[in-house]
Amino acid sequence: MSDVDVAIIGAGPSGIAAAIQLKRYGFEPIVFEAKRVGGLLNNAHLVENYPGFPDGINGAELVKLFARQGQNQSIKIRFEPVYSLTRHDRKFILETSAGTYHAKTVIVASGTRPIMFTDIQIPEQIKDKVFYEVFGLAGVKGKTIAVIGGGDAAFDYALNLSRHNHITIINRSRKIRALPFLRERAQANPQININLDCLLKRIRPHRPDSIELEYQGPQGEGRLFVNLLVFAVGRKPRLDFLPPGWETMGKEIDNLYFCGDVINGTCRQTAIAVGDGIRVAMEICNRSRPKEQE
Ligand SMILES: Cc1cc2nc3c(=O)[nH]c(=O)nc-3n(C[C@H](O)[C@H](O)[C@H](O)COP(=O)(O)OP(=O)(O)OC[C@H]3O[C@@H](n4cnc5c(N)ncnc54)[C@H](O)[C@@H]3O)c2cc1C
Repeated sequence: MSDVDVAIIGAGPSGIAAAIQLKRYGFEPIVFEAKRVGGLLNNAHLVENYPGFPDGINGAELVKLFARQGQNQSIKIRFEPVYSLTRHDRKFILETSAGTYHAKTVIVASGTRPIMFTDIQIPEQIKDKVFYEVFGLAGVKGKTIAVIGGGDAAFDYALNLSRHNHITIINRSRKIRALPFLRERAQANPQININLDCLLKRIRPHRPDSIELEYQGPQGEGRLFVNLLVFAVGRKPRLDFLPPGWETMGKEIDNLYFCGDVINGTCRQTAIAVGDGIRVAMEICNRSRPKEQE
């Protein structure tokens, strides 16, 4: 069992920002990360609204800078998913894949998880061709890929993948929810087809390397054969490691803080997540050493 000053769950933009700010005040935070530094930002095609990058920057490239800054500040990151967070005798107890930790203060910066597509069954045989994020597909070239969804993420994923692949966006509604500039770029991209008002009816294995999609479209039934399938049908806060009820009353528990996408509803943006991380770090500092901060 180890004692931790401040435990941060998640090394996305919010958790990293909180850790960097806490370091400035002399804390020794430990960041627990289930997968990779940078979190969801690794998927972003081109970040054009994060100040300081006038020409925009690819999400994964921005993550590299965050990671370098974290390293330069000697931020400790443990690549251990947190399975549970509880509280006993005014201390938090974190159970991770590698052990148990006690922490006086915890920051939950765990972001969001994809909403799984459950409208129709996805056969077991093709599950290795089905994705909910595009980070792992960076090296994929010359494939046909269907992206299911009509929001910002679906269009951003399509633009990202279209650099080396042919993409078909399938959206069940006639309305595109993505930002106008994403929509316009996708519409102008010869590597992207957009099928609106198309409802997926069946997903079947086809050849060993392809999937058959059956859909009901405005012109009747249609079929599409693709190598890979990417779902972007929404996200929800990732809080499965919390005790029941903490999702709603957790914010009132002493020394427990939430920051970033996990609490930001539809306002899920990098700059907000970073600002949140810095804010909670300052709140922690203000509480423990009010005089030093003035
Ligand atoms: C396709 C796409 C494009 C985007 N484009 C932009 C853009 O142009 N501009 C912009 O500002 N934003 C953009 N975003 C949004 C941006 O990526 C997020 O707002 C940002 O990453 C949120 O940071 P976060 O730290 O709150 O959460 P996340 O980035 O989700 O990080 C959370 C981290 O916590 C980890 N974690 C979760 N649970 C546990 C656990 N139990 N134990 C340990 N670790 C855990 C996760 O593995 C993850 O690394 C985009 C997002 C997507 C999907």
